Amino acid sequence: MADTVLLTGGRGFFGRRIAEALTANGYEVATPGRPEFDLLDAGSVERMVKQIKPHTVVHSAAYYGGLGICVAEPARIFHDNTLMCVNILDAMPKAGVKRFVSVGSACAYPGNVVGDMKEDDFWSGPLHPSVEAYGFMKKIQQVGAHAYAKQFKIEAQFPQITNLYGENDVFTEYRSHVVAALIKRFADAKLSGAKEVVCWGTGKPVREFIYSGDAAEAIARLMKTDYAEPLNVGTGIGTTIKELSELVAKHTGFAGKIVWDTSKPDGVMRKVLDVSRLKQVLNWTPPTSLDAGLAKTITWYLANKETADARP
Ligand code: GDP
Repeated sequence: MADTVLLTGGRGFFGRRIAEALTANGYEVATPGRPEFDLLDAGSVERMVKQIKPHTVVHSAAYYGGLGICVAEPARIFHDNTLMCVNILDAMPKAGVKRFVSVGSACAYPGNVVGDMKEDDFWSGPLHPSVEAYGFMKKIQQVGAHAYAKQFKIEAQFPQITNLYGENDVFTEYRSHVVAALIKRFADAKLSGAKEVVCWGTGKPVREFIYSGDAAEAIARLMKTDYAEPLNVGTGIGTTIKELSELVAKHTGFAGKIVWDTSKPDGVMRKVLDVSRLKQVLNWTPPTSLDAGLAKTITWYLANKETADARP
C-alpha cells in the first residue's frame, strides 16, 4: 500500500503542486485544512494527525508573502508560523509519524553571503532585516525537526526552496512576491493602455526563480531518497529584477516605459542558491526555463484574472 502523506497547506499555491507531484509519484496524499482543522490550535493539530495517521508529514503551510508583507507584519509571520511548526512537530510522535519534510526557504540564509548560497552557509551570519522573522522561523523549524528526530526517531528532510512563481500564486499587491506583483501590474497596464509601469526599488537586486511545478517535483524526488541534510532547491540562475520586469513586459505585451520607485525597498541585493548538491543527490535539474514558466503563468493569470485578483 502507498505511504500516506499528510500535507499541510495542500490547498494553497505551492501546496497544490506538491500534492499533484506526490500523487503522481504514487503517494496517498491527505490535504486537511480549515475549517476542519486549525494549525494554530495544538488540540486540533493532534486530532488531525491522529485521524489521518500518516507515515510522513510534509509541512508546507505558512503565513507569508513577498517583501511587502514581510516588512508590514513580521510579528504575525513569526507567531503564526512558529506556532504551526511547534504544534505539528509535537503531534507527530503521538501518532507514530515516521518522517517529517520541512519545506524551507532561501529567506532563511544569511543576508550577507557572497556568491551563491551553499547549504553550508546556512548558519554563517545574520539574516537580512527585511526577512528576519520568516527566515529565522524556518531556522527554528530545522532545529525543531532535528530535536524530534533525535528524541523520537522521526526522520527529517530539508528542501530549501528559492523564490517560487506559477499558476494560482497570490497576485494582490499586499502579499504578492515580485513575479506575481509584476505580472498583475504589467497586465493591468496593458489592459488599461497605461504609458508606464512603476516597479519597486532600483531593479538591481538579483533573485532566482523556480517554477512551482518544478520545485514540487524536487520534493517528491527527495522523498524517494533517505537524504537527511538540507538540500537547496533552485535553478542556480540569477536574474535582476530589471531583467524580470522586461520579460514580464514582453509576455504581457506591454510596450511602455518601466519606472523605478527607489523609495520602495530593494531587500537583500542577491539571493541565488548553489544547486550543485541538488544535481548530485537527485541527478536532476528543474526543466522549466524562466521564459517558459512565465509564459505558462501569464497565460493562466489572464484566463483566470478575476478570481486571481480577488484572492486576498
Ligand atoms: P524577497 O525575495 O524575499 O525579497 O521577496 P520578493 O519576491 O517580494 O522580491 C522582492 C524584490 O523585487 C525586491 O528587490 C523588490 O524591490 C523587487 N520588486 C520590484 N517590484 C516589486 C513589487 O511590486 N512587489 C514586490 N514584492 N517586490 C518588487
